[in-house]
Amino acid sequence: MGARVQFFGAVRTVTGSMHLLSNGNARLILDCGLFQGHRDESFERNSRFPFDPAGLDCCVLSHAHIDHSGNIPTLVKRGFAGRIVTTEATRDLCGAMLPDSGHIQEEDVKFVNKIQAKRGLPPRSPLYTRKDAEDSLASFRGSPYRERVEIDENVSVVFYDAGHVLGSANPLVEIRNGSKTVRLAYMVDLGRKRLPFLRDPERAPEIDYVVVESTYGGRVHAPIDEAKEKLAETVRRTAERRGKIIIPSFALERTQEVVYFLSELIRERRIPEIPIYVDSPLAVNVTEIFKRHEECFDAETIARIRRNDDPFGTERISYITDVADSIKLNDEKRPMVIISASGMCEAGRILHHLRNNIENRRNTILMVGYSAKNTLGRRIVEREKIVRIFGQDHELKAEVVVINAFSAHADRNELLAHLEPLRGKVKGVFVVHGDEDQSEKFVAALKERGFPAHLPAPEETVELA
Ligand SMILES: [Zn+2]
Ligand SMILES: [Zn+2]
Repeated sequence: MGARVQFFGAVRTVTGSMHLLSNGNARLILDCGLFQGHRDESFERNSRFPFDPAGLDCCVLSHAHIDHSGNIPTLVKRGFAGRIVTTEATRDLCGAMLPDSGHIQEEDVKFVNKIQAKRGLPPRSPLYTRKDAEDSLASFRGSPYRERVEIDENVSVVFYDAGHVLGSANPLVEIRNGSKTVRLAYMVDLGRKRLPFLRDPERAPEIDYVVVESTYGGRVHAPIDEAKEKLAETVRRTAERRGKIIIPSFALERTQEVVYFLSELIRERRIPEIPIYVDSPLAVNVTEIFKRHEECFDAETIARIRRNDDPFGTERISYITDVADSIKLNDEKRPMVIISASGMCEAGRILHHLRNNIENRRNTILMVGYSAKNTLGRRIVEREKIVRIFGQDHELKAEVVVINAFSAHADRNELLAHLEPLRGKVKGVFVVHGDEDQSEKFVAALKERGFPAHLPAPEETVELA
């Protein structure tokens, strides 16, 4: 039997990335992400695998985002005994992020079980616990970028920089079948040029097949420099009216990027020197992991570090882990910036900061990331007049500023430019990781340019000749 790929997760949708590659006896999966949607559907999809985890040899992991790594603890719990091969930074990030995800699963089930009890229904158990997540970490193997990792005598993988988040990679899987070799590049997720900290995305020299994301397959972003300018304006304007700037942010990458720009803006004297707080234990842990992985940084970041211009702004920026210190910020009346998780305002300390600041016109809520439908973040982005926080109505009087240019995903033009050198050379481009309309638009754009593009159906199998 020849090499084949079967598309399981993040097919015509964004979350739950997972695809099966097989070649004779060898079986490996690309990513093992958490599907994120309505609670019951998510539990159902995440708790069952469409194959026997015990029959897999390996999981090749592209990066630490939960929609790519977040179901690994379930995989291990269900009997997976192989290696999880990834970059060294992704291995370390998963060490912080997966236990945190386990904790969130446990907290969520506690909440659900209160309702179950009221209805006289039996209690549920979490998808996985913090302990399950910690147990899964022993299976991780970190590899440097651009070094060959042998999975077995016929299959190997090399991690190329994806320029998406710290440690992110676009793995190239090489499958040898007798005298024939098939090279499949997994460009999920693909980053952008000139993101803070990160090197630009790179490409393997020889590629036969591509699996590519399409989150923004039909859209174009503003350049990243616009994000910095808008950030500066927002801080200046809010500080002038003696207000606070509240920034809901993802703990991985976005928080560090915002800090990177804020510390640069202070050095350039383009914003006043007001206090800046990063109030999220996970973001603080993730920032510590950034500091240990200079091998992931671009030349600009290395140069900043060499001239003692700390991109983490440690002298000017306070990192908070203690709950008591977090609560103290409520009593402070002077202008300040508070960056806190979660980015979509669904959980975490950001809820306390929003509750305390949302009704004051002097303040600004600065949205720097994507907010899914039906989240508090989305309601703020849409400037609903009344929003519910901890079961109570609050009037949204603070100014709301939305900056979309921070995106860590390549847009339509960036995706096309990245694939352009492969035109006329690749045998297939499989489009995944996008809402259906975005994926369809991207497939159409690729076909127009002569690429053999294909939008797989869920569970579809394709032979790799
Ligand atoms: Zn990602
Ligand atoms: Zn993703």
